[in-house]
Formats: sequence, structure tokens, C-alpha cells
Amino acid sequence: MHEAIRSNVSLTARNTLGVSSTAEHYYALEKSADLPELLAIATDKCWPVTVLGGGSNVVLGERISGLVIQQASLGISEIERDESSVVLAVAAGENWHQLVEHCLEAGLYGLENLALIPGTVGAAPIQNIGAYGVEVGEFITSVQYRNLDSGQQHVFKRDDCKFGYRDSVFKHRLRDKCMIEVVCLRLSLKFRPRTEYPSLQAFMQQQTLDSPSAKQVFEAVVAIRSSRLPDPTHIPNCGSFFKNPQLGHDDLQLLLQNHPDMPYYDDASTGGYKLAAAWLIEQCGFKQCSAGKVQVHPQHALVVVNPEQASGAEIRKFAGQIVSSVEARFGIALEQEPRNYG
Ligand code: FAD
Ligand code: NAP
Repeated sequence: MHEAIRSNVSLTARNTLGVSSTAEHYYALEKSADLPELLAIATDKCWPVTVLGGGSNVVLGERISGLVIQQASLGISEIERDESSVVLAVAAGENWHQLVEHCLEAGLYGLENLALIPGTVGAAPIQNIGAYGVEVGEFITSVQYRNLDSGQQHVFKRDDCKFGYRDSVFKHRLRDKCMIEVVCLRLSLKFRPRTEYPSLQAFMQQQTLDSPSAKQVFEAVVAIRSSRLPDPTHIPNCGSFFKNPQLGHDDLQLLLQNHPDMPYYDDASTGGYKLAAAWLIEQCGFKQCSAGKVQVHPQHALVVVNPEQASGAEIRKFAGQIVSSVEARFGIALEQEPRNYG
């Protein structure tokens, strides 16, 4: 095991922002059973542990000290079936989009709106990945993880995960404290389209698809995303850089007095409202704006792109300028979605 831990390993091709970064020590975890021994070595050597999945929601610094463990465990198995649904247990290193395709081919429904989200299955519960009106937490029945400090395995039921808008217990009480090993999802044997999200609905109307099949919804999501979002393999990025701010009725009314054109949406998760972070950023003049090698994507103000391999520090500095401008103009503190490491 010790010999399989490599030193000074480049993470540049292992993060979708394409930031140049090196792990002091690195291990690709293919077998969950290896984790306890790996953690014991890290404790013995006083190495801090950083968990990495597909690297699509991180901003890495030049050097990550200690041990980077990248989830690479594979396996999908059916663990429960009744007349209307199936529960799959999926290893954390499986690719998320490939899981969505697998389910579609197997006649297991629910995940179509979440097609083409990069990254691993193990990272999906961390921020309760969501798109086009659907969140993964709706399907998760349990999450199995190992505590990085104690080495103990635990199983969290859905309620324990405390899923919210791009949020879960894994970003709070269990932040930096766990390695998710298996995610269990309940999928339906009967397809019910979820096409009420505005851009998806518009696409369906345009294609005159009144009662689309699961494959048609999946293909629609892939088509919309491909036309709107920069592909990180061509233009390095980590998706939305900021969360949409959430606020209550009174704060919204105050803001609308000064900014009557400001878009806002009902926030079903809190009963309050969500603002469009992209609009706030655009209003501050950041769309099509660049600072050195970092840019806001010209078609999508929420996406920071890194076409010229800026460093993590440069990206964080640019993001800080966006946060300061939005705060000065609107009094709103934008929250960064990807995690900073190193
Ligand atoms: P990483 O970036 O490797 O890690 C992210 C965080 O999760 C880190 O803190 C890491 O330590 C932790 N982590 C990862 N795996 C584990 C594990 N097994 N156990 C414990 N902790 C772990 N997100 C959405 O919600 N909706 C979208 O529509 C969406 N679209 C995107 C589009 C693009 C083009 C890109 C680049 C990103 C998009 N994202 C979206 C963000 C990202 O894809 C998701 O957050 C994804 O779940 C991250 O997975 P990952 O494996 O790459 O995680
Ligand atoms: P969009 O439809 O133009 O949406 C832009 C933003 O406005 C999204 O953040 C979305 O919130 C919000 N929004 C729009 N209509 C809404 C409504 N009716 N109710 C509530 N919120 C509404 O699409 P987009 O930017 O191309 O993204 C499409 C979907 O993919 C969105 O769900 C988005 O979250 C997701 N996505 C996420 C990431 C990421 O990295 N997190 C990256 C790309 C795309 P929601 O985010 O709550 O949907």
C-alpha cells in the first residue's frame, strides 16, 4: 500500500478548471477496503487528507499538502425492487453522467434532468447536485461514508443528509471529515416527465413534444446544456461559480425598491426567494469581462472560464472582485460554489 502512494503528482488534468496544481502525495482509491490502511498511514505521517472526485467543483492552489485521495471505486448493483421502483447502490467513483445513461437504458427513471453534470457519484450528495428543477436528494435513500478521523463506516438516511439548495450535511458538520463510498438511489419503473423548468418547457414546445419519453427529456437536457454551457474539455471551467442568493420576503422587497427590474424566483426549499446571481454579476459589468487570464463566460455570467491556464490564486482574486462589486452595489454576499484547496 505504502509504495502505491505517489509523490508530487500533477492534478492539472484532474480539475476541470485546468489549474496547474501538484499533490504532495496522491492515491487513486479503487477499493474502499484500502481506505482504513490509507488513513492510518496519513495519520502516522501527519498528512492532512483531501478527497477529490472528478475535480469539477474545486479551485486548486499550486500545491496540495498531505495526501490527496481520488475516488475511483466502481460498481452498480440492484439492492431492492418492488412493483414501482428499484434501489441501486452505486460506488462513489462511478461517473455521474454515465450512471444517468445506465439508468435510462435499464428503464429506471428520475435522473434524466440531471444529465451531463460532470463529476462522480460520490460528490453528488455533497452539494445535492441539481438542474432543470430536479435535485439528486429526491432520489437518494442513503449514503454510506467513512469518517476520515475515526476510520468508522456510517450510513446516513436521506433525512440525515439535510439536503438543501446546493447544500447538505457534508458541507457543514461533515465538511472535510468523510469519504463517501456508496450512494443508494431509488428510481422509478414508470416514467413521469418533469419539464416545468422554463428552458426545458420552451425546448419541448419548440419541438412539439407534448408527452416526451424519458429519452427525449434526457436528449433535450443534453442539447440545452451543450448549447448554453462551455464544455470544460474545450474551455476549462467549474460550472456555476456562485450560488443563487436566497432571501426572505422583506429583504426582497427592499431590494426591489431600488432595482425593480431584478429577476427573482420562488424558492420551494425555504418558502422564500432566490435571486439570479448571473444577473447581479452582469449588472456590475462583469459579463465579457476578464482580469488577466481569467474571464466571465460571454454567454453565461455565472461561469468563470480559464482558457489560458491562470493559477488558482488568480481565479480566486477575480472571484473576490466579483463578490466585492456585487456586495457594494446590492448589499448581497455571493457564496462561492466550488471549494478552494491549497
Ligand atoms: P470534486 O470537484 O472532485 O469535489 C467537489 C467537493 O466534493 C470537494 O469538496 C471534494 O472534497 C468533495 N468530494 C468529492 N467526492 C467525494 C467523496 N467521495 N466523499 C467525500 N467528499 C467528496 N453542479 C450542479 O449541482 N448542477 C449542475 O448542473 C452542474 N453543472 C456543471 C457543469 C459544468 C460544466 C461543470 C464543470 C460543473 C457543474 N456542476 C454542476 C458542478 C459539479 O459538476 C458538481 O458539483 C459535481 O457533483 C462535482 O463532482 P466531482 O466528482 O467533480 O467533485
Ligand atoms: P437558466 O435556466 O438560464 O437558469 C439560470 C439561473 O436562474 C439558474 O441558476 C436557475 O436556478 C435560475 N432560474 C431560472 N429559472 C428559474 C425558475 N423558474 N425557478 C427557479 N430558478 C430559476 O439555466 P442555466 O444557467 O443554463 O442552467 C440550467 C440548469 O442547470 C439550472 O438548474 C442550473 O442550476 C444548472 N446548472 C448548474 C451548474 C452548477 O455548476 N451548479 C452549472 C450549470 C448549470 P437553479 O440553479 O436553482 O436552477
